[in-house]
Amino acid sequence: MTKALLVLVVLFLGWTLWKKRHRSRQVPPRGDGGRSDMGGEADERTRDTALVEAMVPCAVCGLHVPAGEALTDGAHAYCSPDHLRRGRPSRP
Ligand SMILES: [Zn+2]
Repeated sequence: MTKALLVLVVLFLGWTLWKKRHRSRQVPPRGDGGRSDMGGEADERTRDTALVEAMVPCAVCGLHVPAGEALTDGAHAYCSPDHLRRGRPSRP
């Protein structure tokens, strides 16, 4: 009984991962606004990105960057080294 459940879980995880990869290959690069039916797709893509990685706002300019790419200084996140320098409160 437990084995069957485990197999089901593994199959589901594999299918989910496969689906995610398959879909990310189909997504065209950013700025390619040649299509007219981008409405629903754009929403789905945004939701997928949010599931993959959390977005954090830059403390200086407010730009949202993936948490993995953001530069952090304690509690704040920054989009670039320049903003990291500018965002530091302790300046002479
Ligand atoms: Zn910034």
